[in-house]
Amino acid sequence: MIPELLQLQKDYFKTGETKSIAYRKQLLKQLKVELVKRESEITSALHNDFKKPVFESVISETANVIAELDLTISKLAEWTKPKRIVPSLLNFPSSDKIYSEPYGTVLIISPWNYPYQLAFVPLIAAIAAGNTAVIKPSELTSNTSKTIYDIITTVFKPEHASVVEGGISVSSTLLSQRWDYIFFTGSVSVGKIVAKAAAEHLTPTTLELGGKNPCIIDETANIKLSAKRIVWGKFLNAGQTCIAPDYILIHKDVKQRFYDAFKTEIELAYSKNPMQSEDFARIVNSKNFDRLERMLRNENCVIGGKTNAGTLYISPTVIDEPKLDSEVMKDEIFGPILPVISYTNDTEIDNIVSTYDKPLSLYVFSTNSAKSKKWVQTYSFGGGAINDTVIHFANHKLPFGGVGNSGIGAYHGKLSFDTFSHKKGIVKKGNWLDLPFRYAPYKGKLKLIKIILKWLQ
Ligand code: NAD
Repeated sequence: MIPELLQLQKDYFKTGETKSIAYRKQLLKQLKVELVKRESEITSALHNDFKKPVFESVISETANVIAELDLTISKLAEWTKPKRIVPSLLNFPSSDKIYSEPYGTVLIISPWNYPYQLAFVPLIAAIAAGNTAVIKPSELTSNTSKTIYDIITTVFKPEHASVVEGGISVSSTLLSQRWDYIFFTGSVSVGKIVAKAAAEHLTPTTLELGGKNPCIIDETANIKLSAKRIVWGKFLNAGQTCIAPDYILIHKDVKQRFYDAFKTEIELAYSKNPMQSEDFARIVNSKNFDRLERMLRNENCVIGGKTNAGTLYISPTVIDEPKLDSEVMKDEIFGPILPVISYTNDTEIDNIVSTYDKPLSLYVFSTNSAKSKKWVQTYSFGGGAINDTVIHFANHKLPFGGVGNSGIGAYHGKLSFDTFSHKKGIVKKGNWLDLPFRYAPYKGKLKLIKIILKWLQ
């Protein structure tokens, strides 16, 4: 079935219909109508999948998909227009242009943690750029996966965009095919599987992966506000956010004040018993619950540390001074557990941050601009924020993506369109003049060509 679907899409792409800009725009508009109409169905599916609060679904899933759609619809004519480039005098007389052309048939594999927007934002760009697309949503959020299937089936012909549901075996079959582009969001380990499969066919890829995101709080930080913003960014989606702060490095002089403020902010956000709060999501499945629960063993939980396997609940938790070789400091946490390690000087920060691969995000809380700038410039990471968490995601003008182990490529806004477009450079040469210097025989021309090349530099 998968090879047949792919062939169907390849044949359809060849007809050229997806290249019509008017048609792309019309489909994106139809998609918007469908997404707006189904908003409550989408938020219900997310709630059924892991008790994601409706408010969080709107701010982190549906609203940004609509924003991305609106932007794409309004800018499509501008983005698709061949871009005139200043020609090189070496080619005189000429006019140069960059054409954005679709790759062809693209595969989008998405994860479960933001299962709706991480499927739709790439899809919108893929269609806008004139490709056909197959989406493979995560099997762990089956309600959202089904909703995505229903929406795509309603708006698109299968040869233009399709959803293939399923788990690892379906994903592996998809990856064994020859695609023109693969856009993968998920874990580092699966990212490597995707990269290997893509290499087999030399298929270009975007890999949106994860990592261990440090959050540095120095002695000059506004502690109360820092605590409030970290509570929000860490416990949004119950900590199951690729760009959530993973661990805190805090100056020892402000640690206790931070703990007091952090506890207060958790209570203000989720009450004294977050298990009863409608605003706190659950862990996606028991495998992840068990993985997270193991991190709590033998640790000093100064806040939270409560779990309930039956409801997949883990309370907002702070672990005080875990060892670097402890379970919680090994890999990306991806849950509502926040280890806090104190430091006294910058070398200690450096020793810890440098232990890990390049993270997807890094956050600095400080009122010392020079120091904040230094940290942001010293470390290599995908993107981040000073004096806040997660919010860099919201500006479509900022590239969103990792570096090194946290990913390859970036998207959002115009960059999403560019990601799914091959940029073709074309020189249109004039015939009214044909300068003789470059042509053989070369005898006697070397000196002159050197002068010309130098002059043109
Ligand atoms: P995952 O890698 O387990 O799964 C992602 C997708 O890959 C799913 O659709 C899944 O079915 C498929 N898959 C799983 N195992 C596979 C295999 N062996 N072969 C082929 N396909 C396979 O990731 P997840 O648990 O769904 O998501 C969590 C991870 O995603 C975290 O590491 C997180 O940091 C990362 N993430 C990154 C971003 C980003 O934008 N950079 C966003 C969200 C999540």
